[in-house]
Amino acid sequence: MDALPEILRRSTLPYVFSAIILVPFFIIGCQPGTDSTAKKPVFPDSTTHYQIDAQIRPDSGQFDVAIDMRFVPKASTDTLRFLLHDAFKLEELTGPVVGDYSTSPWRFGGEDTVHTKVVSIPLSDTMTPSDQVSISWKYAGHLQNNQIPNIGGAVVTTHWTELPLEAMWVPVHASLSSRFTFDATVDLPKNYEVASIGVLQKMDGDWNIQSSVPGPDVPLIISDKMQTQKYTDGEVPLTVYHGGAPDSLISFVAERSQQILNRYARRFQGGSDTDALRITLAPVERATPSSYARTGLIALRHDIKPDTSLFGLIAHEAAHLWWTDSVNPMSRHNFLNESFAEYESWLALRKIYDDTIFQKRIEEARKNAQKAPSFDEWQPRFDGALSYNKGPLLLHQLHQRIGEANYQSFLRSLQQKDVGTIGDMIATLEEVTNPETATWFRKKL
Ligand SMILES: [Zn+2]
Repeated sequence: MDALPEILRRSTLPYVFSAIILVPFFIIGCQPGTDSTAKKPVFPDSTTHYQIDAQIRPDSGQFDVAIDMRFVPKASTDTLRFLLHDAFKLEELTGPVVGDYSTSPWRFGGEDTVHTKVVSIPLSDTMTPSDQVSISWKYAGHLQNNQIPNIGGAVVTTHWTELPLEAMWVPVHASLSSRFTFDATVDLPKNYEVASIGVLQKMDGDWNIQSSVPGPDVPLIISDKMQTQKYTDGEVPLTVYHGGAPDSLISFVAERSQQILNRYARRFQGGSDTDALRITLAPVERATPSSYARTGLIALRHDIKPDTSLFGLIAHEAAHLWWTDSVNPMSRHNFLNESFAEYESWLALRKIYDDTIFQKRIEEARKNAQKAPSFDEWQPRFDGALSYNKGPLLLHQLHQRIGEANYQSFLRSLQQKDVGTIGDMIATLEEVTNPETATWFRKKL
């Protein structure tokens, strides 16, 4: 989950984000338009929640969006800062404590992220975590494919539009670790279908999407060529969304995903919000060849083939249904998201294929981690070398030192306690093993 999540992580931003998403999972029988039994999620007042009303015209890239946002600050604050795509012109930004706003370019990891602006909103009163800030947004504009930041899985074309986090089609808090639930109504041309997270229903011609699991964005995948294939044999019901992918690819993705999900469900025992999964296969090239995961959704990149690298990719993304953005992914704590997900994908490859491929992954990671600093010196540009290479290598060393039974207890303990920081992870390791092992591991980081 997370969530500069996989987005930025797998991105080409700095070259270190080379390898693979965020992730920042749940649903009820997600066949579009047929989900008459879906329950209305409850959105507690204590959470940050977006009520969204959007009209989208994929052929022209025209967006008209209105959002009533209830924002609950994580700490006392007198200014809120949001990220929004620069193509959108603000028509209204109002609320009881909202002052005049200003905009500026957004810099990420020392680089200017063209096409994303920061909207700074001074508040007339200091707000605390027990307060709710109400903000109403109204904005419109044409989103063009050549204006998508070159950092993730977004694309805007007539027949396939995909808007995960980095396209910022809804305002995202600039801390990027601030999560929200949402209830979105999306008006699309008649022949378009939608894939997203949460409960998905077609009502009176509009699409309604509701997510009661706080997440980093409103992922939206829209197509007038959308085909779906449902699989209900495994422990987690699965729907594959595609735009005309070959049957061999679709069945590989479905069978391998179920195999992987069954393995993880046994291995981690709880800790995932996913009780059904949607997997999308993008038929078009996106800003970068990245894949990402959210609660109940895995979006796979364009141009994949049924082979061991695709298996590894699915195993990594599926692990995010458990190992997700429980902490700020823009920090050394990304270890909890990415290092565990990546190491689990290596173990799944060894289990389903053979040890040779596992050893090859270790060898590649050693090379990539050669110049990695300590996790204490984490910076965005080191995240690829640290979270995706050094981290999983350290987990492998730990696994060898403490053995399979202890390693599994460690994983389950982390899941049960929803551990989201390196400090808590070390404390959990000490509980499961002993102080010497915890100290040894801490020093290796
Ligand atoms: Zn990942």
